[in-house]
Amino acid sequence: MGKIWGKENKEKRLRFLRLFVVIFAACAALLALAALAVDSRHVRFYMLESEEITAAYGKPFVDPGCYAVRAGRFSGEGEEELPVEVTGQVDTDTLGDYELRYTARYHLRSYSTTRLVHVADLTPPEILLEHTEGYEPTWFTGYEEEGYSAVDDYDGDLTGRVETFYYEDRVEYRVSDAAGNEAVAVRPIEYSLGRPEIYLNGGDTVELTARLDYQDPGYSAYDIQGNDLTGYIQTSGDVVSYRPGSYEVVYTITNALGDTVSVKRTVNIVPAPEIEIVKPEGNVIYLTFDDGPGPYTARLLNVLAKYNAKATFFVTCIDPDYADLVGRAYREGHSIGVHSATHNYYSIYASEEAFLDDFRQTEEMIYQQTGSYTRLFRFPGGSSNTVSSFNPGIMSRLRQIMLDMGYQYFDWDVSSGDAGETTKTTAVVDNIIGGCAGRRNTIVLQHDIKDFSVAAVEKVLSWGARNGYTFLPLEVNSPAAHHGIAN
Ligand code: ZN
Repeated sequence: MGKIWGKENKEKRLRFLRLFVVIFAACAALLALAALAVDSRHVRFYMLESEEITAAYGKPFVDPGCYAVRAGRFSGEGEEELPVEVTGQVDTDTLGDYELRYTARYHLRSYSTTRLVHVADLTPPEILLEHTEGYEPTWFTGYEEEGYSAVDDYDGDLTGRVETFYYEDRVEYRVSDAAGNEAVAVRPIEYSLGRPEIYLNGGDTVELTARLDYQDPGYSAYDIQGNDLTGYIQTSGDVVSYRPGSYEVVYTITNALGDTVSVKRTVNIVPAPEIEIVKPEGNVIYLTFDDGPGPYTARLLNVLAKYNAKATFFVTCIDPDYADLVGRAYREGHSIGVHSATHNYYSIYASEEAFLDDFRQTEEMIYQQTGSYTRLFRFPGGSSNTVSSFNPGIMSRLRQIMLDMGYQYFDWDVSSGDAGETTKTTAVVDNIIGGCAGRRNTIVLQHDIKDFSVAAVEKVLSWGARNGYTFLPLEVNSPAAHHGIAN
């Protein structure tokens, strides 16, 4: 009984112990689970860089990575990194958004987090500048583009979208790709700073004597490379060369870009010095012949030569067939003066410009025949004419203009009467001798286009020779027998 009891008791104790262990273990497990639940154990991920990143198109992608640790409310973070598995692909050859998933296991559970990767074009285009060896742009021609190209790793050839900006010292090239990446290239062009200089002969203020035509004292322009740009200078500002006053002339060069360089000059037109009259020695007759040369001029020159007498011819351009006689008369010691190219009162007295145009024409004819410019002239109709009264005051104005330019006009104090009063040679002879007799010096008016007047000359010359008169040519400072201006 005792044995049995004993054996039974042993088995009972064992069974009880086993039960106790099981219950104890169950309780401990429950407690542990409860503890875990209360601690809310999980996995915490730490992402290197942010959850959303951008990767460069065309470049290898390197995942910045992520690490994981276990974490609990009370127990804190574990010190050991948990293994992390990465799933998902990033294709940097295709623009778009990609997802990477990071997974870690802990206590049979798996935890994960994701990262968004944008594959984008981050590389700006490349601009290539071409250079032509030996090319030297100038300020004047401007910069002529030597060429450029632009390529983008994603958009390809962007040459056509390059914008160029020209500045004084550089050219800038700008282009953006479709993703907005901008590229800038700069080409320095220091030569464009080399603006030319304009040099004015005689300086920026000149004083010129009044004259028929304005002649600029001269100018030149060179750029920094020494190119002669003189031919490109444009001048503006009118100088009325025959009218004393102060004028401004502007000299300008404009380059291909519309940029200009200019300088100013003040031109002061001053009157010619007043002519001082010098009275001739002895008794002098100044024979003057208007309106030629013509058919009788050669005969007249022969007669004058025979007596070694000198005269003055106020010539026209009316009959060019005889123009060479102007040269002959000059070479034979006679004086030549301007009368008129056309002798048409209504055109030459229409304006100052009209008179001067006519005057210039005659002056040039004389120069061609004689090789010399004359300062002598006679107004058609004389300075006292009233035929010009259709243009009030024109004679006063012309007188001043002509004297300002240093010309001397000559009237007469003895009229031969050959201009309508008579057509008889004897009357012409009498008029001249009557007018000259008893006077120290006189200016006689005749017309060498009148046969009967030319025929009177020999008698006048022989009378003069017998009576102590010398026949001299007028000079610019000879007595001028000025009439009173009537208009
Ligand atoms: Zn005349």
